[in-house]
Amino acid sequence: MRLSRYFLPTLKENPSEAQIVSHRLMLRAGMVRQHAAGIYNWLPLGTKVLQNIIAIVRDEQNAAGAQEIIMPTIQSGELWKESGRYDDYGPEMLRIKDRHDRDMLYGPTHEEVVTDIFRNNIKSYRDLPKNLYQIHWKFRDEVRPRFGVMRGREFLMKDAYSFDIDFARSKHAYNQMFVAYLRTFARMGLKAIPMKADSGPIGGDMSHEFIVLADTGESAVFCDKALLEKPAPQNVNYDDDLQHIVDSWTSIYAATDEKHDLSQEEKLGANLVKARGIEVGHIFHFGGKYAEPMGAKVTGPDGNPVTVMMGSYGIGVSRLVGAIIEASHDENGIIWPDEVAPFQIGIINLKVGDAACDAACGDLYAKLKAAKREVLYDDRDERAGVKFADMDLIGVPWQLVIGPKGAAKGVVEVKRRGAAGKEELSADAALAKVMA
Ligand code: ATP
Ligand code: MG
Repeated sequence: MRLSRYFLPTLKENPSEAQIVSHRLMLRAGMVRQHAAGIYNWLPLGTKVLQNIIAIVRDEQNAAGAQEIIMPTIQSGELWKESGRYDDYGPEMLRIKDRHDRDMLYGPTHEEVVTDIFRNNIKSYRDLPKNLYQIHWKFRDEVRPRFGVMRGREFLMKDAYSFDIDFARSKHAYNQMFVAYLRTFARMGLKAIPMKADSGPIGGDMSHEFIVLADTGESAVFCDKALLEKPAPQNVNYDDDLQHIVDSWTSIYAATDEKHDLSQEEKLGANLVKARGIEVGHIFHFGGKYAEPMGAKVTGPDGNPVTVMMGSYGIGVSRLVGAIIEASHDENGIIWPDEVAPFQIGIINLKVGDAACDAACGDLYAKLKAAKREVLYDDRDERAGVKFADMDLIGVPWQLVIGPKGAAKGVVEVKRRGAAGKEELSADAALAKVMA
């Protein structure tokens, strides 16, 4: 992409409405613009990051055996009356009347809809297990939408729902998601702590939140340092019994404010981490809570009907964009982990109009594009300072800088965002380095 043609409305000043660094940087980097309280437009740069996050989430869900579907954002209130949640959910649910005066709502979550799909289409235990997920917009009329996309009213969630014949198999589905979450967040360069949680309005008997540490997080977190140092599971076979992996994580101390056990302070000593955290995912096991009232049953091996066991598994996809920035930035802007970066490589032409500079930059640009790399070429007629600042602000991981002196010598300056110093390399060596 040529920056001269790209829709990237960056801001030099900090917007006054933004209280936390990720919100400030998302506005300054031209990623999002607010449409109404807690409702955002995603501009090209923000959209690219969101899509990269979606791709990681999808890849890991598919690997864990979940199947992607798309459910409606606007739901019928009737299903929620069946589950009993229509009255319980409260003012966070945006209720709508259609022209026939029917109760509709903008889905804050999809347990009812997916249970309805299940009961209408799956009849035998032979068709189990099933785990269905979508990556879609939700609406919750939050009392205090704030911190930009971190607590929006409309936000993107990955929500998966598992269906099994008995508790043991249902627990296995829960464990599959637990492990998939550890891997998903690690790929985004995040250290996410699984934390035993209450299940709130979703209900259920087993629940974990996944929390990313950041100073601006909404909850206080206490944990054993070992949890932060533990690498995400590699080469997982999701058909294997995963209980030992889950146990190896849940046996390490972690608690939020309310549940923090003071005796752990002494026990852990210097290994106790006190921090704040952002909830980026939440998994629930709730057995028959929806299947029971909604009659989601299959015929069991003995021919008798059995109510299915369910769990649901959320990831705050749009919140993750903010959480990643909270965890990875400096005074100059965002530092994207490679797999979520909107562009992997930036080219800065220090003297647009200079034949040698234009030729050298054009050549790098063409080669990177031919190699299918996402590359942003700053070909604007702007001061060098502006170009350096913008490339750092939007967080491009590799930056190739070419000015008249370098062009004459056939060299390129290679800079890694977030690292100190620059390296001068031949054009070919620079290409090899950033494409490795
Ligand atoms: P919170 O406690 O932050 O309000 P929640 O527990 O109500 O979240 P869940 O029902 O567990 O949310 O939803 C799954 C995930 O969706 C959460 O872990 C979070 O990452 C994300 N999420 C929830 N509410 C919002 C929101 N208002 N804006 C952005 N993301 C959200
Ligand atoms: Mg939650």
